Amino acid sequence: MDRIDFRSDTVTWPTPAMREAMKQALLGDDVYGEDPTVNLLEKEAAGRVGKEAGLFVASGTMGNLAGILSHAHRGDETICAADGHVLQWEAGGMATIGGIVPRPLPTDRQGRMDLDQVEAAVRGDDPHLPRSRLILVENSFGARNGFPVPPDYFDAIRAIADRHGMAVHLDGARLFNAAAALGLEPADLTRSVDSVTFCLSKGLCAPVGSVLCGSKEFIHQARRVRKSLGGGMRQAGVLAAAGLISLNEMTGRLGEDHANARRIALGLAKIQGIDLETENIRTNIVYFALEPACPLSAADLVERLQRDFGVWLGAEGPRSLRACTHYWVGQKEVDRLLQGIKSLLQAG
Ligand SMILES: *Cc1c(COP(=O)(O)O)cnc(C)c1O
Repeated sequence: MDRIDFRSDTVTWPTPAMREAMKQALLGDDVYGEDPTVNLLEKEAAGRVGKEAGLFVASGTMGNLAGILSHAHRGDETICAADGHVLQWEAGGMATIGGIVPRPLPTDRQGRMDLDQVEAAVRGDDPHLPRSRLILVENSFGARNGFPVPPDYFDAIRAIADRHGMAVHLDGARLFNAAAALGLEPADLTRSVDSVTFCLSKGLCAPVGSVLCGSKEFIHQARRVRKSLGGGMRQAGVLAAAGLISLNEMTGRLGEDHANARRIALGLAKIQGIDLETENIRTNIVYFALEPACPLSAADLVERLQRDFGVWLGAEGPRSLRACTHYWVGQKEVDRLLQGIKSLLQAG
């Protein structure tokens, strides 16, 4: 990498093993169901999350949208987190493309909606009202430092959904980070949901791609939705080959990224003028803020870190920032980040 990039784990390049596998991949037309590498990836991905079938999609956004559109129809309503990725960062696809109404609820510091509020948000059968059809959950929860939410929360959400004949979809973009942080198998975190999307890109380093998983019947439907969204890819095995390496070789090392995020959090906590919640940093995302007394804005700090230290961070607001750890940043890069921030804040 030509820069030390903590903006996101989406910036990750494919590894040399991935480039080699892409070169060697057996290919076919995946819209005909004939790409052996895609078929293998879909099968293995479904197995990892304890579902019957998988569907390779271009992005997490497409996986979530295909999932939502396969569960819900125009005029249906989705109960979802107000600060969840699907509502905040996916261009409103459920509403603009699906005609599906979001019903946003607040979350706590660990990315959980209040269960009583979820139950109370379910609508009765009345022609004035949209139909409550789907509950959307997320794990790890990006906006809350990537907090890894334990499985009992999803079991409780399942119970509510069952009482009202609703489905549950999990945006598990960083599902493997959550599983690693909790010391669980991914399938432990998906046992209570009907469908799940996870990203092969991000911390798992594939250049492109996510997988949507669920029952055979659900995936059959989602395959048609994917086609309608323009997501039917042909010799996609070149991408799936990298995805297989993500699944088989990259999931086991995510603990290193979490240790590095922890190192960043503990280091930042010692710097005067920085505010953060170190106790909730369990995976690879660290949100922090510059205290009002700090003379630099987030944008100033980002610019000076780039210029003077070659370190890239994300500014999330006038005084808030985000650092994300991943395969391409290690301890040495973490030290450089901390040293840069410390010297810039001390200099004023
Ligand atoms: C990244 C991400 C997605 C999907 O993003 P794409 O860029 O479309 O792959 C979905 N949910 C969460 C929580 C994410 O972090």
